[in-house]
Amino acid sequence: LTERLQNAMRKLRGKGKVSESDLRATMREIRLALLEADVNFTVVKDFVKQVRERAMGADVLEGLNPAQQIVKIVDEELTKTMGEEAVPLNKSAKIPTIIMMVGLQGAGKTTTAGKLALRLKNEEKARPLMIAADVYRPAAIDQLVQVAAGIDVPVFQLGTDVDPVEIVRQGLAQAAENHNDYVIIDTAGRLQIDEQLMDELANIKALAHPDEILLTVDAMTGQNAVATAQGFDDKLDVTGVVLTKLDGDTRGGAALSIRAVTGKPIKFIGQGEKMTQLDVFHPDRMASRILGMGDMLSLIEKTQQEYDAKQAQELTEKIQENSFDFNDFIDQIDQIQKMGPMEDLMKMIPGMANNPAMKNVQVDPKDMGHLKAVVYSMTPEERTNPDILNPSRRRRIAAGAGRPIHEVNRMIKQFNQMKKMMNQMSKGNMSGMEQMMGQ
Ligand code: GDP
Ligand code: MG
Repeated sequence: LTERLQNAMRKLRGKGKVSESDLRATMREIRLALLEADVNFTVVKDFVKQVRERAMGADVLEGLNPAQQIVKIVDEELTKTMGEEAVPLNKSAKIPTIIMMVGLQGAGKTTTAGKLALRLKNEEKARPLMIAADVYRPAAIDQLVQVAAGIDVPVFQLGTDVDPVEIVRQGLAQAAENHNDYVIIDTAGRLQIDEQLMDELANIKALAHPDEILLTVDAMTGQNAVATAQGFDDKLDVTGVVLTKLDGDTRGGAALSIRAVTGKPIKFIGQGEKMTQLDVFHPDRMASRILGMGDMLSLIEKTQQEYDAKQAQELTEKIQENSFDFNDFIDQIDQIQKMGPMEDLMKMIPGMANNPAMKNVQVDPKDMGHLKAVVYSMTPEERTNPDILNPSRRRRIAAGAGRPIHEVNRMIKQFNQMKKMMNQMSKGNMSGMEQMMGQ
């Protein structure tokens, strides 16, 4: 997904404006990228429509940096599709808050039940009780007991011969007696949704009136995850989703679809087998993850990437010593060219937008190549000692670079202004410069 989107964005990057055909091509890439990431077809269709509508707005077409604007729109729409804000667990007004885990076999219910219990213990000093209501495999109860022992949480169980609804009834009675503030019910799953399972879960729900029915979905199952989520939600009206196995490289395609199709919030994500690897789901972070280009979302972040701290340090020293020369000037131009439009970058630097010197430092990106040619026509001495650039040297440089003399003069003037401005900044507030250099 990332690669596709990034390629699409790269094509746009150098452009000053987005034409309709550029936009169409980009939207096609985004659509394909999402489909490849297993995002549900209808979700993709709606999503692309939304992005296109926003991207067609006049603002974007006249924008200075269309690639960034489109990334921003895609990012915002992804975030919106996934629900904008993190949604906390439902909590009961009086104890216990009852959480029922549901989902297919192997989705991660038992593991997540343990993770959740640990989280509640750590965050709220809670005293949860877990109920073992998966009676179809003896191993399932053993597993829950083991998980619970590892995090020091009690388990209520009656073995495999008692009806799960009865187990839950007795478990709740015990929780009331012990004043447990949370009850987490671990239920059975199947390899596929079937009527019998759904009826059993519906019966447990009817008895326990859970505050939270957490549907646990394996993020690696792609399109199937959506069908599963829909099936469970239709029957049980779940209150939230936990997306498991989002470790490492797994992209969040399922997150996008599930939220869009069921309308139910994703509350947590599982990112590993360890008990601590459960995180609150943040739509904006997942959007960046799906896009794989959080780095492009802010110029500052990008600046930080492109400049390494050492370079920044060197430049800072040079400015302080007032030995900033044409070689540095060229380096700066190279760096800036890598980052996109100069104007945007400059605006990010605190104090820069209002700096009177800014008005004169208009480095048109298109002229940057010419600037380089001029610098390359200077002798090493001239580059490090700009003060010696008298009229005859300037004429020679202009001829060598194949640029008119007035352009050479203008550039030297710009260089001097830039130097002066940097000097001012270094004497006054360095923070702006340091921020620019990524320190
Ligand atoms: P259940 O059948 O729904 O109760 O699923 P389990 O809790 O038994 O989990 C099935 C398998 O998935 C186990 O091996 C878990 O360790 C593993 N698992 C659960 N959640 C995660 C996760 O977030 N990341 C990874 N990598 N593995 C997980
Ligand atoms: Mg289980």
